[in-house]
This record gives sequence, structure tokens and C-alpha cells, in this order.
Amino acid sequence: MTNAPPRVRFAPSPTGELHVGNARTALFNWLFAKHYRGSLILRIEDTDQVRTSKVFEENLRQDLSWLGIEWDEGPGREGSCGPYHQSERFSLYRAHLERLIAADLVYPCYCTDEELEAERRSLLSRKLMPRYLGKCRNLTAETRGRLAAAGRPAAYRFHVPPGTITFSDLIRGPVRFEGSALGDFIIVRSNGIPAYNFAVIIDDQLMKITHVIRGEDHLSNTALQLLLYRALGFAPPQFAHHALILGWDRAKLSKRHGSTTVREFREQGILPQALINYLALLGASFGEGKEICGVDEIIETFSLDRAGKSGAIFDKDKLLWINSLYIRKESPQTLAGHMQPFIKEAGYGHLDETRLYRILDAVRDNIASLAEIGPYLRIFDDSVYELSAGARQLLADDETREVLLILLGLLNNTDAADDELYGTLMPLLSEKTGLRGKELFMPLRAAITGKTKGPELDRFFSILGKSSLRYRLHKAIAATT
Ligand code: GLU
Repeated sequence: MTNAPPRVRFAPSPTGELHVGNARTALFNWLFAKHYRGSLILRIEDTDQVRTSKVFEENLRQDLSWLGIEWDEGPGREGSCGPYHQSERFSLYRAHLERLIAADLVYPCYCTDEELEAERRSLLSRKLMPRYLGKCRNLTAETRGRLAAAGRPAAYRFHVPPGTITFSDLIRGPVRFEGSALGDFIIVRSNGIPAYNFAVIIDDQLMKITHVIRGEDHLSNTALQLLLYRALGFAPPQFAHHALILGWDRAKLSKRHGSTTVREFREQGILPQALINYLALLGASFGEGKEICGVDEIIETFSLDRAGKSGAIFDKDKLLWINSLYIRKESPQTLAGHMQPFIKEAGYGHLDETRLYRILDAVRDNIASLAEIGPYLRIFDDSVYELSAGARQLLADDETREVLLILLGLLNNTDAADDELYGTLMPLLSEKTGLRGKELFMPLRAAITGKTKGPELDRFFSILGKSSLRYRLHKAIAATT
């Protein structure tokens, strides 16, 4: 690493919701920038005017912010290398195309889609790799003039020189491509739209990108991009191609494997910290089998080499497990913040903060995702209190009824504060009934919560308080007579 702070970029095409694979690329770039005290640039690759949408772009920006991946330059954070939307940079691409035309390194190609498709099929039928065979490469000036005059639209192709293209990838080591296998490729389409490989190298150059970190599906693009760097006299950045996230069948993770977007996981109640932890961990560990790591430590210990070496299978259960650990760890305030949409959806948006924090604290050990909160809010709500079939069964004997009556009596005669009820009344109840452990707790739990399982009983005493406990005991007693 040179001394100058590195500049990396995340360059999504807003043609869909942010896929976890792309989020992982964004994360690696962000971690790299943070680790080496460099900058992350967000560049929106929106040249495809048909598939691109502003809604996807807005969602993408929200998703990155939700994950805590903040960019130093990009939309909304203007720097000296903007604009940061490719759609606003066409004049830059045009100027560089002119340079390549003047240097005779590109040529106009008049082939129609049908002609190109026929060539492709013919190569495939002969078991040859499909590529452009160079039909328009050596057209005479006269032929070009005639085709242009006839109104035939021209794309511009880069004339690939023979020879090998090699580079040293920061993750994969030495990589080698044969120029002869590539075929002359389009850099500007006949409709004037620059192709990805062309726009991307101009942007990476002008935005002073020092390291390109992206998925290994772009490896063959890098060969083409290196040719363009050379042709334009630019020094290329360093490249790091990380392995991709795979589905259970080891194919690239896609919709048919289930949920794949950051938005889906957010809507399913995954915490951003948990998703970051999981995406950073995937395919590696934080050393000595460590799997849970806060973001500061992830930044501190980040290494490209470890991060993206081998393809890793996305395991939803593991993500949920990590999520459950983060749910236990977060402060009630942070947890409540992330849980708000789920709390509202369950109809408890009005709960006062203190009560909500106490409930969250009481139930957090029982849930693996924020989306599971609904039933846990309901068990603290008197207006929907009811006995489950299992609870009824537990309560259906005279001895239990007696226990409940004794507790009711104790409640009526105590002046202990709500927080002290459990500690004060339980020893008395045990003494009076001669019952201990499960024999005592099971029927009490059934009566007080209406359920046979759930959070610790002491929490119910302090959160519900005297009047609510009395209300529930009355109901339980009535239901068992
Ligand atoms: N827009 C490209 C993509 O989303 C960017 C690839 C790159 O990082 O160069 O795949």
C-alpha cells in the first residue's frame, strides 16, 4: 500500500433492490476505506435508461445508510470528482471516445443485431467461444462513408491487440487472459450509450480510484478494462475480485434460493449490525473460529485476503442465530428504534417508552428476529389476555385454584412496589402452599401469562404490576371454576 490514502468505490446499477452479494461488495469497499483511512465513493451506474429506476436508487441509498455504510463522496455528498451519476457524465465519455477514434484504436461497427446473433450461433454450433470476429475492423473509408450516408447506425468497437493481458489480483494472485480469445468489444453502442467497460474505466480514472474491489464475476471485464487503460495512457488501479455468495447448490445466490435482498432481510426483522457481521464473516472467520464481531473490530482486523477468498453458502439459519445474539446485546433504545415498524404493525405504536423498554428487555432472549415481537407484546396486554388450551389444562385442579387465591390475597395485602412484588411475594406463597419449583411456577405462569411458555416470570410481576396481576388472577380463577 502506498502512503496516499486509498480511494475505493461502490458502483451499483440501480436496476433492482440491493442484493446481499452487492451489499457485501459495498461492505468490503467500506471496510477497506475505513481500515486504511481512505475514501469510499458511491457512483450510480445508470446508463441503462430502460432498466434503471430512481426508486431503486433511492432504496439502494436507504439500504446502504441502514447498514451504516456511509460514502464520503457520491450522490448527496458532493466531492471534487462528480457528477456521481453516469447518466450525467456522457460528455466525458464522448471526449475519451474522440481520443480513441483519433488514435485509430477503435472503429465503427455497422453490424446489425441479427448479423451478430447469426455469428454467435455459428461459433457456438462449431463449439467455439462466441466473440466478434472483426467484420467491420478493416472496412475502407469509402465503405464506412457509404454506410454512414445510408443512415446505418454505428457502434464503436475497441480493436483488441494480440498478446496476453496479465495482472496481479490482490485476492486471487496472478491472472492471465489471451487477447486473441476476447474479440473486439463495443465501447459505445450505436445509440450513443457507453458500454459498462468503457464508462467504468473513465470514471475510475477521473475519480482517482486506487483499488477496485468487486465480485469475481467481473474478472473477465478487468481484462478488457486493462486494455482500455493502456490505450488511453492511464495507470490502472489495483484490482481485488472477491468470491461470490452461493446458494445451497453452490450456484450464485439468486431469487430461486429465497430472500436475497437487504430490504427483504430488513423486513424480516434482521438488525443491520447482524447482517454486517454475517456478510463480513461469510466464507471466513474473524480468526480462531470467532464469529461475532462488532463493526469497529471488523474494520480493525479487515483484510481483503481473508474477506473474499472462497465462495460461501448463504445460510439463513446462521444469519438468524447471529441476529438473535445481537438482539440480546443491543441497548433497549437501539432495539426499540429498529423494532418500531414491527411494533406499529402489531398495533402497539402507542406504548410508552419505559414500558416498551422493559418488555423488550424481558423478551429479547426469546426472539431471533424483530418480526417475532407481536405475540410478546400481546402477552403483556390485559385487553387480549386469554388462557391457551395448555394453560387451562394446567389450571384445572382445586389445588391450583387455591394457590391462585392465596397469591391474590397476598397481592391485596402488600405494599411492596411493583418491582419488588416477585421477590417479596414468592417466598411467602411458597411457604403458605408448601410448593416449590416447577409445581409452583408452572400454574402461576399459566395464570399470569395465559401461556405455558415465555419469558421469566419475575419480569411479568414487575411489568404488569399489582392491578394487572389481580385482573389476570381473577380471570384465571373464574376460568377454572
Ligand atoms: N455497475 C456494475 C455492477 O453493478 C459495477 C461493477 C464494478 O464494480 O465495476 O455490477
